Amino acid sequence: MRVFKFGGASVKDAAGVRNVYDVLQKVGYEDVLLVVSAMGKTTNALEVVIKNYFDKSKELQASVQEVKKYHNEILMDLFEEEKHVVFKNVTTLFAELEYFLNHNKSPNYNFVYDQIVSFGELISTTILSHYMNYKDIKTNWIDVRDFIKTDSNYRDAGVDWDLTQQNISKNVKRKVLNVTQGFLGSDENNFTTTLGREGSDYTAAIFAYCLNAESVTIWKDVPGVMNADPRFFENATLLNQISYREAIELAFYGATVIHPKTLQPLRRKEIPLFVKSFINPVLPGTSVSKGADLEPHLPCFIIKKNQLLVSLSSINFDFIMEENISEIFGLFHKYKMKVSLIQNSAISFSVCIEDKFGNFNELKNILSKKFQVSYNENVSLYTIRHFDEKASQMVEKNKEVLLKQVSRETMQIVTKEV
Ligand code: ADP
Ligand code: ASP
Ligand code: MG
Repeated sequence: MRVFKFGGASVKDAAGVRNVYDVLQKVGYEDVLLVVSAMGKTTNALEVVIKNYFDKSKELQASVQEVKKYHNEILMDLFEEEKHVVFKNVTTLFAELEYFLNHNKSPNYNFVYDQIVSFGELISTTILSHYMNYKDIKTNWIDVRDFIKTDSNYRDAGVDWDLTQQNISKNVKRKVLNVTQGFLGSDENNFTTTLGREGSDYTAAIFAYCLNAESVTIWKDVPGVMNADPRFFENATLLNQISYREAIELAFYGATVIHPKTLQPLRRKEIPLFVKSFINPVLPGTSVSKGADLEPHLPCFIIKKNQLLVSLSSINFDFIMEENISEIFGLFHKYKMKVSLIQNSAISFSVCIEDKFGNFNELKNILSKKFQVSYNENVSLYTIRHFDEKASQMVEKNKEVLLKQVSRETMQIVTKEV
């Protein structure tokens, strides 16, 4: 079985959905499991709905309406006649979303978040699956929440691999085209959970692992994994073949083309990952597989924007040592900070972190009781794998460098735009 993942960019409009049909015609669809994300920027739009809901804003209705209108336009374009059953199915999903907004009693933000954002994927897969059937490709729509079981760590749920393996082995049909949702799972009470933003690549890897799939292909708006994000770097070059290890490093440092959790399950079973263009599906793209000799021979650039550079120094000139560091990391973990760089000296300690969940102010107050805290907001972290002199000069040009760290293969530079 092959697993394909189509992300938000690939199904952002009616032309995108038609293109998925064309891709399937070209590359085949028997014995395939399709993992599909919410259409375009729907997850962001649903985050606005959640914010309005908690703020008790009078914009709430309008924000739901916007998501409806966007999907309705795609439906009208794809199906022409409103009698098609897909209109009723999508209307039912929106009615469920509104029912939840009107009746929910839970004050738990993360729980509510997952119950709401999940409609993005439920709606996109409903539309896509009906469209394929409407044309001549028969699909088997499945609810991923019956397969991927997780803990109740809403918005960043951890997979229960044993239960998930059992469900997938027992109940995924072979030899057909299955269509399911990326990003979602469910906990032991069958409440919806999510695997973290951009988590649909990870969903594809979970299915591939449990199905012992032949391969995973993630279809992108770029030719494959490149040595830099082409949005920010001119002359980005396609990497034809890279090792799991290299891909893990690139994803870990923030190359958003692959979600970092995707690689581990695939590497464990040596399932190849292909990253290909949904615009030119027959081109080879990038293949990620085993092999130490697959290191790229050119510098690879990764940029993470909107980071915080935080420096802690001890108030009494005490050393910052093991016990302090473990306490500091305990707090980072508790407040869900993603740490992407660490540097310490005898009496000070600096980290570059990402405040994905908006917890920094609270954390800062706690840290200030023990340490002198200074920080820069909105800094960029550049990582150069396989760096050379020219590469670092290029990154540093016209920027203020706040911190730099060099290891054998990797150079990291924290900068502020000037
Ligand atoms: P999806 O639709 O699957 O969610 P994303 O938008 O998350 O797709 O990922 C594709 C984007 O990743 C590209 O448009 C590109 O801007 C960005 N990207 C970041 N780093 C790289 C890289 N090293 N190679 C290719 N694309 C990259
Ligand atoms: N729709 C989710 C998000 O935008 C998951 C994904 O696209 O991978 O984060
Ligand atoms: Mg995405």
